[in-house]
Amino acid sequence: MLAVDTAENHQVVIAGGGPTGMMLAAELALAGVDTVIVELRATHKVEGSRAGGLHSRTLEVLDMRGVVERFLEAGQTLQITGFAGIPLDVSDFPTRHPYSLALGQGEIERILGEWVEELGVPTLRERKVTAFTQESGGVVVRLSDGAELRADYLVGCDGGRSLVRKSAGIGFPGWDPSVSSLIAEAEVDEQPQRSIRYTEEGTQAIGPIGGGPRVRVVLTEKFVGQADEPTLDDVRGALASIWGTDFGIHSPTWISRFTDMTRQAEAYRKGRVLLAGDAAHVHYPVGGQGLGLGVQDAVNLGWKLAQVVTRTSPESLLDTYHAERHAVAARVLQATMAQTALTRRDARMDALRGTMTELLAMDEPRRSYAGLQSGLDIRYDLGASDEGHPLVGRRMPDLALVTADGPCRMFELLREGRPVLLNLAGRGALDGAPRPDGVQLVDAAYHGAWHLPVVGEVQAPDAVLVRPDGYAAWTGEPNGSGLTEALARWFGLDVSAPRPGTGR
Ligand SMILES: Cc1cc2nc3c(=O)[nH]c(=O)nc-3n(C[C@H](O)[C@H](O)[C@H](O)COP(=O)(O)OP(=O)(O)OC[C@H]3O[C@@H](n4cnc5c(N)ncnc54)[C@H](O)[C@@H]3O)c2cc1C
Repeated sequence: MLAVDTAENHQVVIAGGGPTGMMLAAELALAGVDTVIVELRATHKVEGSRAGGLHSRTLEVLDMRGVVERFLEAGQTLQITGFAGIPLDVSDFPTRHPYSLALGQGEIERILGEWVEELGVPTLRERKVTAFTQESGGVVVRLSDGAELRADYLVGCDGGRSLVRKSAGIGFPGWDPSVSSLIAEAEVDEQPQRSIRYTEEGTQAIGPIGGGPRVRVVLTEKFVGQADEPTLDDVRGALASIWGTDFGIHSPTWISRFTDMTRQAEAYRKGRVLLAGDAAHVHYPVGGQGLGLGVQDAVNLGWKLAQVVTRTSPESLLDTYHAERHAVAARVLQATMAQTALTRRDARMDALRGTMTELLAMDEPRRSYAGLQSGLDIRYDLGASDEGHPLVGRRMPDLALVTADGPCRMFELLREGRPVLLNLAGRGALDGAPRPDGVQLVDAAYHGAWHLPVVGEVQAPDAVLVRPDGYAAWTGEPNGSGLTEALARWFGLDVSAPRPGTGR
């Protein structure tokens, strides 16, 4: 007798509905891909304290999809970009978001969750991905309730301890922790003053929350490598050793531990399994980069995976996801390790921090590091096609354009996550160019200067091919070379098909 296949079918299964998984789900939904999220938690509620905000490039990405206002309304814009606590002003960067947004991860996840729901992506909650097998043509994903899902691709957005990464046998090389911190919220019998102390181990802080008996503590521990689950006794002991009292701390709402363990997946893809967000990279939270990195992984991967799933592009397009995003995270990991070293307190580190503070007060170093911390300086290595104009591989600016339908911002053209071939060389100049169905051709005028963050002013291009993730894939003249190749490479144009006007 034939076994009955009861597995539910989807094009993509996302393991983990944190910020990365939800952003990826939104990107796939915009591209019309049948996607399901499997999430362990019953709700969006975030236990403990995690990300406290978003930097400029993540805000730009959300702006491209038309949802940034939801986040801006819920948070507060501030100049809080920094390097190891040394402030980096980004207010002169040419972006509509020259600031960071202070907004807790709980709120960020709530807003992302509402958007994903509007887009109609189902989330299977209170279930875990427990195992999977890759078969030719698909992946069978097993869940903790015994159900099976069959998909073309599985994406592990399941955080730093990723089961997907481990089960796929993808190595996670890097550095063991050298710093370990406890973070907790609890009640106290003795109300402390807000206090920050710098010890040999690092920063120690305690502060009341509101006017009540509750406090939040962040304590750098004396030793690294303790058991994963911290206890109230760990917090009591650490408080007593620093302030000489544990303030009668009791009734914790949550206690967690974070370290500077720094690791990166050696491959972001293994066959039909991909990794994104913390599943692909972990680092110390200094600088507040983690959540934004994951959201931007998702935006880089989403359109590529959609094109592969719908057979618009070959599977090899997915290799550009690893090439582009692994390099970006490697750079962030290096910067967070440098910042972690700078947070240690002794006379030599104080001297080094003083030197760094002087350097970062100078304009060019300030712009360079602000570009890195804000994510505005990313330049993907697009290989042979990225020679020439400095815009290629970099983010397309949110230009104030004028089209036949009236004024329009560049980012508004990216709302649906579709590529744009922007013709700035006069109406109709690109009408004869070959173009895959999904690529929007937009004739527009732009009369301002072209300023790129960190780079400065660049020459105005006549035409730009913009990928759905907002990065320029090609620039040139309407009849210039390379456009057909760029369209074929990124958007699956069949270059063997006859080209209008060329007689082929
Ligand atoms: C103390 C602290 C402060 C931080 N501050 C900042 C900051 O200011 N700015 C910033 O950008 N980042 C910050 N971060 C980092 C940020 O929290 C993470 O980078 C971000 O949450 C990563 O998102 P993610 O979706 O990739 O992973 P996660 O948020 O870890 O989400 C993974 C999801 O997968 C689910 N899951 C796990 N296993 C399974 C499974 N087998 N099946 C189904 N579901 C599963 C989990 O329940 C979870 O919802 C901070 C982190 C910490 C610890």
